[in-house]
Amino acid sequence: MRNQSNYRILLVEDDPAHAELIEREFASDSLCQLHTVGTLAQARQSMRLAAPDLVITDLRLPDGEGTELIEPDGRCPTIVMTAYSDERVAVQVIKSGAADYIVKSPETMAAMPRAASRVLREWRLMFEQKLANERQQRLTAILEATPDLICIADLDGFLTYINRAGREMLGITADEDIGRIRLADFHSPADGQKILRDGIPTAVRNGTWSDETTFRTNNGEMILTSQVLISHRNQRGDIEFFSTIARDIRHLRAAEERVEYLAYYDPLTGLPNRNELAKRLDMEVSRVRRNHRHGALLFIDLDNFKTINDSLGHPVGDQVLKEMGLRLRKYLRGDDTVARLGGDEFVVILSGLSADSIEAVAQAREIANKIRDTVALECHVNDTDLHLTASIGITMITSDDASGHDLLRFADTAMYEAKREGRNRSEFFSETMSSDVSRQLELENLLRRALRERQFQLFYQPLVDARGHIIGAETLIRWDHPERGITAPSEFLEVLESTGQIVEVGDWVVSSALAQVTQWMQQGIWHEDFALCINISPRQFRDPQFASNVQSQLERFNLSSRNIVMEVTEHNIIHDLDDAILRMGELMQCGIRFSLDDFGTGYSSLSHLKNLPVSHIKIDRSFVHDICNNAGDEAMVASILALSRHLGLKVVAEGVETEQQFALLQDHGCEYFQGFYFGKPVSAFEMSELLAASESAA
Ligand code: C2E
Ligand code: MG
Ligand code: MG
Repeated sequence: MRNQSNYRILLVEDDPAHAELIEREFASDSLCQLHTVGTLAQARQSMRLAAPDLVITDLRLPDGEGTELIEPDGRCPTIVMTAYSDERVAVQVIKSGAADYIVKSPETMAAMPRAASRVLREWRLMFEQKLANERQQRLTAILEATPDLICIADLDGFLTYINRAGREMLGITADEDIGRIRLADFHSPADGQKILRDGIPTAVRNGTWSDETTFRTNNGEMILTSQVLISHRNQRGDIEFFSTIARDIRHLRAAEERVEYLAYYDPLTGLPNRNELAKRLDMEVSRVRRNHRHGALLFIDLDNFKTINDSLGHPVGDQVLKEMGLRLRKYLRGDDTVARLGGDEFVVILSGLSADSIEAVAQAREIANKIRDTVALECHVNDTDLHLTASIGITMITSDDASGHDLLRFADTAMYEAKREGRNRSEFFSETMSSDVSRQLELENLLRRALRERQFQLFYQPLVDARGHIIGAETLIRWDHPERGITAPSEFLEVLESTGQIVEVGDWVVSSALAQVTQWMQQGIWHEDFALCINISPRQFRDPQFASNVQSQLERFNLSSRNIVMEVTEHNIIHDLDDAILRMGELMQCGIRFSLDDFGTGYSSLSHLKNLPVSHIKIDRSFVHDICNNAGDEAMVASILALSRHLGLKVVAEGVETEQQFALLQDHGCEYFQGFYFGKPVSAFEMSELLAASESAA
């Protein structure tokens, strides 16, 4: 509505004399713009063009009744005038929503400006009231719809309003008189005190106070909330009332607790995880230092668990782990910790063993044995009876200065020792193991450096045919350390393998062997049909990038790959035969052939042979070594040769050291040879001389 000081009136009057009379009355009012029309149609158009603040209309108009212009709930009030006073008409007009009804007379028309300003005033008040009511209703609707408790309380704490969520949360029924209820009655006594002592004074001082509080509902349920208390002042600055908003944060808290739990506990078994174990281990170490009673750390690994997982599926594996966790927990005392590190690895901290070290060791051994007995009890999962065993590594927690981290490594080392010793046993960590560990660590570091500083070298050993002519070479890696000299692969391959460095080293082997052969070809001393044999380690072989790396190396050197033979051992591929065959297939696509190295040392080589896409086998040198004086070895070699012929495989005898061995192998039909008798592994330079010499001899 426009400011009262400037308003627009639409006068609808078909009688020009009346119109003029009224216009005259308003003329002296400079703030009023009066616009006069004579018909309903004109009035409607005028209202559309410029909304008036007030309509004054005659009842009887040429084209209808003035009441038709009334907007009952609108912003614009209407005063209706008639020429005759008829009570019924008056009632009808007022009912239809007119703001006033005036019977025309010279006096009433003269008084029209006063009537107009009264109607405008009253109508504006009424309209504002209506808006306020609507606003109030909307706010209430919002309060009623919010899921948080919202309430208003007087200065004594009695409720004057509580929303639906609040009534529901606390269990207040609709017919209860909330004026007798204090919110504080629903707080736990401690929280009630907190609000009294801290909440209200703070809200009075600062306007608001907030904290976590617990409500106890009418049915006894405890609800954790995040509560805000607000003080409201009137214009004089006196506090008039308080309001509170409280949000149920039980779900939030549960989620937080879950996150916290997952950071420290294993969700499958509910046992502490590695983080929690580390904390408790550090606590145990300090406890031992304080009270001198020993502790022990047991590293438990289930034997052959992978087989259960692979053959019966992960859900069964999970059941087994859960069951084992339960058994360990049940067997051990409350002071002891049982944790799961992941996979099938559990760790136990035994606390408060004897202060006497010999006695403590005996106690730890006894408990480890009992744990193995517990694990060995039949385990019934999914209609299957499983029999498990465990290997346990034990290290004592004494007051020396080993950290929790060290202790875990010691127990882990001892566990590996137990596995190596045949599984299903316990093994104490010993100083020798410790020096093994530190030697291993030192070696790892040296090897890392070797890779950086290019200390690796490739040696080559000639591969010969029955006439003793070179028909290829096997690459053999050497480590040339500035101080230690040249080291054979048996000293370091296992470490490279266990740290994964072998992947990088293996790539280097492939590319330098290819580079070398390319050079020899350019020198004309390496024939197209010579075989280049490269040893491939298990880890390299499982690397998904391997085949594509090899392929790009072949492209880089522009080498036809039919002369490249990759040597793999049975151990190398037996773990995952299907995967191995797939890998071999990928590489064979680039023309690479495979040789089964150290043949005869595996357990079931013969049975696997027919499934494997290999073209060569290499009889292990342990058979060749004794072939002349051990009938069993001779028979073995003879049958390997016979079978290979049958399967169309080429056979290389490796480790041929004497003429007699060479002769006997030939007698049995062997066609390819390698060994000190023909040539030891030599540097690339010496190999080029050998190749050149054999070239000129041919
Ligand atoms: P391998 O593939 O069976 O290699 C044959 C081993 O027998 C070589 O040992 C070689 O020096 C040795 N040898 C050859 N002829 C004779 C002989 O007449 N008498 C005796 N007593 N030994 C002989 P080396 O070089 O120490 O290599 C040992 C193993 O290390 C190799 O066995 C192979 O499995 C692995 N290896 C060597 N180089 C590499 C490589 O670049 N990568 C990978 N992954 N493994 C390699
Ligand atoms: Mg080999
Ligand atoms: Mg071999």
